[in-house]
Amino acid sequence: MPIKLEDIRTRLHAKDYKLTPQRQLIVKVFSENPNEHLSAEDVYGLVKEEHPEIGLATVYRTLDLLAQLDILRVMNFGDGRSRYELTDIDDHHHHHLICLQCGTVAEFNDDLLESLEAVVQKRNGFKVQNHQLKMYGICKECQSKENEK
Ligand SMILES: [Zn+2]
Ligand SMILES: [Zn+2]
Ligand SMILES: [Zn+2]
Repeated sequence: MPIKLEDIRTRLHAKDYKLTPQRQLIVKVFSENPNEHLSAEDVYGLVKEEHPEIGLATVYRTLDLLAQLDILRVMNFGDGRSRYELTDIDDHHHHHLICLQCGTVAEFNDDLLESLEAVVQKRNGFKVQNHQLKMYGICKECQSKENEK
């Protein structure tokens, strides 16, 4: 579950930042586009029509700040652009499946890494706190397109 507006306000206030209308607007873009992994350009494209007063530089600055405060999570899927999404409420982030053909990024929550963590902890004496996982491959849609040829 993504972080809620109330938590976002709290995180900003804890560092003496305000939830300004601009910040709120950018947060809204993310909550209205769940499961998307938006770049700064994507966000800019979504706000500029209704809010021409917001420039790309502001979008960059706001995304930076929100990422610093752990409100947004920054990711890189290998296309040279930073992508953002709202952080999850619980510590365990979801994971990503990245299609090498069309570039879509799907999410999945269930993983078997908890048992791997236990093994690592036992064998290496390393106390695992979290993990991130990206899997690269070919999505269902691209596979069925291949089959139609
Ligand atoms: Zn694909
Ligand atoms: Zn995601
Ligand atoms: Zn996991």
